[in-house]
This record gives sequence, structure tokens and C-alpha cells, in this order.
Amino acid sequence: MSDSKARTIDWTGGCQCGAVRYRLLTPPEHASICHCRMCQKASGQPFMAFASVKREHLRWTRGRPAIFASSNIAERGFCGACGTPLTWHRIESGSIGVTIGSLDHPEAVGPVQQYGIESALSWTAGLGALPGKRTEDWMREYGITRIDSRQYSD
Ligand SMILES: [Zn+2]
Ligand SMILES: [Zn+2]
Repeated sequence: MSDSKARTIDWTGGCQCGAVRYRLLTPPEHASICHCRMCQKASGQPFMAFASVKREHLRWTRGRPAIFASSNIAERGFCGACGTPLTWHRIESGSIGVTIGSLDHPEAVGPVQQYGIESALSWTAGLGALPGKRTEDWMREYGITRIDSRQYSD
């Protein structure tokens, strides 16, 4: 990400249904993925990706996340209506991570560190080698001509 791009982007995001929305007042200071078992369970996915800012630089602009204190040191925020994972916050730290996939412009930030590698699923390292298909090609294959999305529009 170039510095000029980071300055011009709206660092906004939110959950799939739109009940919870946020804004970052600064570009993320750090981004990472975490393969730990807690992140796997919290997301239902092989790993989570987070972009971090100082806690005071995250503003909730609509609604508030539900919170699950997943351990004595951390809280996870998620939309209580649609379930989208939104944040990870180590309680004694001054920073908070938002899930990269919940950003309105997720391509604007990329991870520079992996955590929890002891739990990394062996196949994640080879994802880039799997055959790929665009959504419109998948739709054509199944005769789906139109999808009426209920996802909140960024
Ligand atoms: Zn939601
Ligand atoms: Zn983790």
C-alpha cells in the first residue's frame, strides 16, 4: 500500500447486515493473520486477518458489536445480528484489530506477520496453487442468472 493511497481511502467498515459500522481515524498501523485455534473457532475459518489501530482511533458509527471475552486477556467483537467477526482487542493493550474482510476496502491493507503458526492448517500454504473460478463463471455453470444480495452496501 502506498502512503498516498492510505491517505485517500476512507477507512470504514462493518458487518454483513450493516447493523454495526465503524471508521478508523488513521490508516492501520499493523496487519497480520492469525492461525491460532481461537481465531479458527471464532471465525469458523482456517485463520483470521486483522488490521490494527490505536484503540482511540476506532469509532463505532452505527450500532455496537456484541463482545465475547474469549480469554482472560482478550475480547472479540462481532455483530449480534448477523454474526460477522469484527474486532480482536487485547484488553491491556492500547490497540485493537479490525477484521480485514470487514473493511470496505480490504485490498488497501495486507498482512506483514503471521501468528499462531503452530495451528496453521497444512493446506493454507498451497492456496495460491488451487484452480480458481470467478463468481460470474460459477453462476453461469449453475444457471444462476441473478443474486439479490442482502449484504449491506458499502
Ligand atoms: Zn450485522
Ligand atoms: Zn488468533
